[in-house]
Amino acid sequence: MPDADAIAERYEGLILDLDGCLWVGTAAVPGAPEAVDRWRAADRALVFLTNDPASAPEDVLQRLWSHGVRGAVHEIVTSGVVMQEYLADRFSGGAAVVVGSPAMARHVRAAGLKVVSREAHVPDADVVVLAGHADLSYRELTWAVRAACAGVPVIATGRDRLVPGENGVRPGTGAVVAYVEYAAGVDVVAVGKPGPDAWRIARERLGVQGPVLAVGDRLDSDVGGAVAAGLDAALVLSGVTSRAEAEAWKGARPVAVADDLGALLGG
Ligand SMILES: [Mg+2]
Repeated sequence: MPDADAIAERYEGLILDLDGCLWVGTAAVPGAPEAVDRWRAADRALVFLTNDPASAPEDVLQRLWSHGVRGAVHEIVTSGVVMQEYLADRFSGGAAVVVGSPAMARHVRAAGLKVVSREAHVPDADVVVLAGHADLSYRELTWAVRAACAGVPVIATGRDRLVPGENGVRPGTGAVVAYVEYAAGVDVVAVGKPGPDAWRIARERLGVQGPVLAVGDRLDSDVGGAVAAGLDAALVLSGVTSRAEAEAWKGARPVAVADDLGALLGG
């Protein structure tokens, strides 16, 4: 396993997950903001890639700054950003039924789509967008299921079952996907991690030609997704994965496993 100096020497860019790596709930992982600072001080590129579909990149940026991590909005790739690019490529000019936060609705509009706001227009939508959020309502789920039953394609920001929170877990976008798939009997396409689009966009934003390391706390969506996208990946144990789970994992191998970001990047 490469030590911290070897990692700083080997990789030109870092694609860093946020939940479970830089923070858990509202608390920063001890040493993680300082590790990011050191990475930047070494003149290395950095992009934050998160499957959080409810926050706007600007909100994520403010959270970074509140933990003393400097950054710019173009360095933040949320699953809403990935969704925006996906929709712009395929559904621009169309109409979308949106299950998601106000930030997600802004991504949909920025991609050149209208957000369906009248029940009568639901079956005529071009796409259904699914993203978990705190104000999830029966009405928006009903609209999504109704459009899916009418044959409208359904695209989700991810399939994460659970999201860690301060007072315990919350259901993630994957639970919303399961709801619509079960009710409507359809297959939903997911565009966030571990899918290739998220890594491609993050890689483009990094703007480096040399080797890139992805860092995350999940074996399936972070390590598995990054390796499938042709990147090296490192696992940190400050989030949802225990060392025993990492050792028992039969999927793609991380190049490094560390207790936290500080241990991975040196400190
Ligand atoms: Mg995470």
